Amino acid sequence: MSKQPKSINLILAQPRGFCAGVDRAVQIVELALEKYGAPVYVRHEIVHNRYVVDSLKEKGAVFVEELDEIPDTQAPVIFSAHGVAKAVPKEAGRRNFFYIDATCPLVSKVHIEAERLFDEDYEIILIGHEGHPEVIGTMGQLPKGAVILVETLEDAANFTPKNPLKLSYITQTTLSVDDTQEIVSLLKERFPMINYPNKQDICYATTNRQEAVKEIADKCDCLLVVGAPNSSNSRRLVEVGERSGVKAAYLVQSAKDIPWEDIKNFTTIGITAGASAPEVLVDEIIDAFNVRFKTSVSLITTATENVAFKLPRELRDAS
Ligand code: SF4
Repeated sequence: MSKQPKSINLILAQPRGFCAGVDRAVQIVELALEKYGAPVYVRHEIVHNRYVVDSLKEKGAVFVEELDEIPDTQAPVIFSAHGVAKAVPKEAGRRNFFYIDATCPLVSKVHIEAERLFDEDYEIILIGHEGHPEVIGTMGQLPKGAVILVETLEDAANFTPKNPLKLSYITQTTLSVDDTQEIVSLLKERFPMINYPNKQDICYATTNRQEAVKEIADKCDCLLVVGAPNSSNSRRLVEVGERSGVKAAYLVQSAKDIPWEDIKNFTTIGITAGASAPEVLVDEIIDAFNVRFKTSVSLITTATENVAFKLPRELRDAS
């Protein structure tokens, strides 16, 4: 008699996956390819996901890290969703590039906020992760030294402002809501007059995906987060899962990365996806479970999202 496959429950967190900023950025590259033809140059991975980048490469997008890798060209040059320092459009202008900015409008909002605070003579703290392109882009809105990066509670404890009465903070959009709250509380305790954003800079998509993970975590043995190692919001989802009580949380780029041996004794597995991970990768993971197990799939929804951003003017007629 053949052995019955083991039963496994998959719980999908909702919302998960693509946010409005990523959706817009990917559309920008696709529409630019349609309207202007290949090649279309893209500075930095348009969003942090290899599957997305590889699919766009197949359609004719050419990814570079810096503008000096691009030959003199009439082809469009697109800036990624993470935003760029002011020096980048300036250099693109100097080289007469036709550039299209795919910076997420919620990142642009932080850029505008930083400029306003600078104009009002605030010393600006940016809570974020050193080296992340969004942080480089936000710091690069202002002259060197105008923005001080705070990454950890320790940084917040050791920071000495020039004038505690004229101090403000902004944040990266894809941070852990809870970690950031701890850093902000310490800054407020140390500097009661610190100025803060009217609406937090951590975006709706980051917040909603973390809330959804918290909700499913106590119902799951382990959590699979679909996302790339360089995706800040995906990595934060792994941390949120670990802290919310799952026995293990794994970042997987695709079904190939599922740690079958490690999860073989688990019966309920949560699945979410970072804001740059397309749903097709989640579908592939469910298929991979279906091949090995008798699988049931349920959904836990903690928020409904209906955010959409306008495309840049140059591409509205192509959409
Ligand atoms: S994660 Fe948030 S800030 Fe980043 S692209 Fe998506 S909506 Fe914009």
